Amino acid sequence: MNKEQNTNNCLNCNSSENDIPLIKLTYSKQPAYICSHCLPLLIHHPEQLIGKLKGAENIPAANTDE
Ligand SMILES: [Zn+2]
Repeated sequence: MNKEQNTNNCLNCNSSENDIPLIKLTYSKQPAYICSHCLPLLIHHPEQLIGKLKGAENIPAANTDE
């Protein structure tokens, strides 16, 4: 039996798709999921995802008014 997980989890906070809406993305040809709470991180602070999302150090942050 293949013990493959059928539930997807947020790459940042590990929330399950049963608990919160997950958005599917692909990066570096790898599929990944991020939840609606963590999506702003990916947009504005991708550096905080280094170590969680492969290649996150290469993602440019969106321009903000900070
Ligand atoms: Zn999350």
